[in-house]
Amino acid sequence: MVIPKKIKLASRVIPVKYIPDMAFSEDAVGMACLNRLEIHLQKPTSSQPIPPQAVEENFIHEVMHHIFYIANMDFEKENEENIINRITPYLHQFIKQVT
Ligand SMILES: [Zn+2]
Repeated sequence: MVIPKKIKLASRVIPVKYIPDMAFSEDAVGMACLNRLEIHLQKPTSSQPIPPQAVEENFIHEVMHHIFYIANMDFEKENEENIINRITPYLHQFIKQVT
């Protein structure tokens, strides 16, 4: 999987930024940054080694936060079918950019 420098979801362009010391400064290896429209990922370094699969999973995790935010769903009220229907177009748009 190639993690792009930015992704587009709906009409939003979301830069993907690698932060060298994020694990220390934020105590996290990924952040969605929904208001800033960015995704931050801990940059794998010798002092903060992260397997490539873990970085990819962190990336997907943060993308899913953006998708749920854009879809603006009420998880308390909506059933599984509606949730999946709302997410699917954004998930498709995302998958086309990383494959
Ligand atoms: Zn999360």
